[in-house]
Amino acid sequence: MDQQTREHLVRGVSAVVSDHAEELTALDRAIGDGDHGINLKRGFDAVAAELPALAAKPLPEMLKTIGTTLVMKVGGASGPLFGTFFLELAKNLPPEPDRAALVQATAKAAAAVKARGRSEPGQKTLLDVLFPVQAVLEAGGSGDAVKAEAAAAAERTVPLLATRGRASFLGERSVGHMDPGARSSSLIIAAVVDALAAQE
Ligand code: ADP
Ligand code: MG
Ligand code: MG
Repeated sequence: MDQQTREHLVRGVSAVVSDHAEELTALDRAIGDGDHGINLKRGFDAVAAELPALAAKPLPEMLKTIGTTLVMKVGGASGPLFGTFFLELAKNLPPEPDRAALVQATAKAAAAVKARGRSEPGQKTLLDVLFPVQAVLEAGGSGDAVKAEAAAAAERTVPLLATRGRASFLGERSVGHMDPGARSSSLIIAAVVDALAAQE
């Protein structure tokens, strides 16, 4: 993966978070404290501000810097969780990963987020996107299949009862709303697929 691809990837993810910050915050207003879009935008703006130097780093170093920046800047419950995902990817990815290496690393990253959140899929959190998407990756799904599953998985959080995170304080009132972290995760996954497809 060359420097231009890495820069394209970071810009794509940062842009999608920025473009959807209002939407994410509105989702969090319904079942949380209305800051998810603001939190993530603050984090990914700080990441994008490190470009182009950030993209000059080898992939593992770049991911480590992104993870550290997200932990420091996003805050809330989601900062450590998104940060953990990138830090764990950084630990497990070689500088030039093939598909098998990528799938192994994302499996470890999803497991690390689960451990960090002390949560399970089915609790109406971002894990309800990370785990189904991981299953599609492991089954050899295409970029389009990954994007479709990410979007569908976020939609499937609507009828769930939240039992982790701030939304769980609402009990039954959390039912009928999409989880903000599931939505942001699906958007970021789609942006990664698009950025990688554009470079092929
Ligand atoms: P906060 O709830 O602290 O305001 P955010 O609004 O930025 O943080 O993020 C909320 C999102 O974080 C939720 O929509 C959910 O997807 C995710 N989340 C919160 N707690 C957990 C947890 N324990 N495990 C997994 N995901 C969680
Ligand atoms: Mg919030
Ligand atoms: Mg908050």
